[in-house]
Amino acid sequence: MFKPEALRLMKAKRPEFPQIEEFCRSPRAFLHHLDKAGVDRAVLINYVAPEVIGFTAGVNQFVADYVKEDPRRLIPCGSLHPRHSANIMADVEHVVRLGIRLIKIHPPHQLLYPNDYLRGVKELEIIYRAAEANGIPVMFHTGTSIFPGARNKYGDPMFVDDVAVDFPRLKILLAHGGRPLWMQTAFFLVRRHSNVFLDISGIPPKLLLKYFPRLEEIASKTLFGTDWPGPGVPDIGRNLDDFKALPLKPEVQDQVLGKTALRIWPE
Ligand SMILES: [Zn+2]
Repeated sequence: MFKPEALRLMKAKRPEFPQIEEFCRSPRAFLHHLDKAGVDRAVLINYVAPEVIGFTAGVNQFVADYVKEDPRRLIPCGSLHPRHSANIMADVEHVVRLGIRLIKIHPPHQLLYPNDYLRGVKELEIIYRAAEANGIPVMFHTGTSIFPGARNKYGDPMFVDDVAVDFPRLKILLAHGGRPLWMQTAFFLVRRHSNVFLDISGIPPKLLLKYFPRLEEIASKTLFGTDWPGPGVPDIGRNLDDFKALPLKPEVQDQVLGKTALRIWPE
């Protein structure tokens, strides 16, 4: 589905790209890769962004089929797009029926603000209501994107504040902690709202404590991820090793590496 210019960025500095293509075909090969990296479970991020990346709603069926190999270890993330849905009610129902366990909204690639339901985009409200009612968390991409055509004004996490207020039972994950521009906003929102969590994927672990010096204070709501194979994330295992090398208390490491995620997706 990739547009050529987006695919070019995915392939840059990625000599092992054929291996990634193999993982897309074979969940078994990917599970083996996770074994070698020491990773028990992975959330597989997919989203609908036809204009900037090329992804259509077909990603939902793709990931639902993919995780059948091992639904305990592979957690399907899907998505919806307000401007690319002829019948949002039916599409939301379809996503729920497929067993999608996380919905990703990607404002800089979907070209919308998380709180656009306040300006007439009713589809967004329907998505959040359905996610809330079905206990499906919603992850927002926060922070910049270097993909051609991405619009970075949408990446400011502050626009998620309204969503946290208006949908108090919706579990909200701030992907990438607003990096590299809005870490303070992300930290504030996680402390301000009981339903907002911090996802550290996409942040080079070596920079994590520079970005979030008070990480331990929000450890109970912080979860590890890598954003691999996104640009700038070379390797899952290396991210994990770099995280483990940080000067964090063992209980904080356990919390971020597993316990927070287990609260969101119990086994
Ligand atoms: Zn993202």
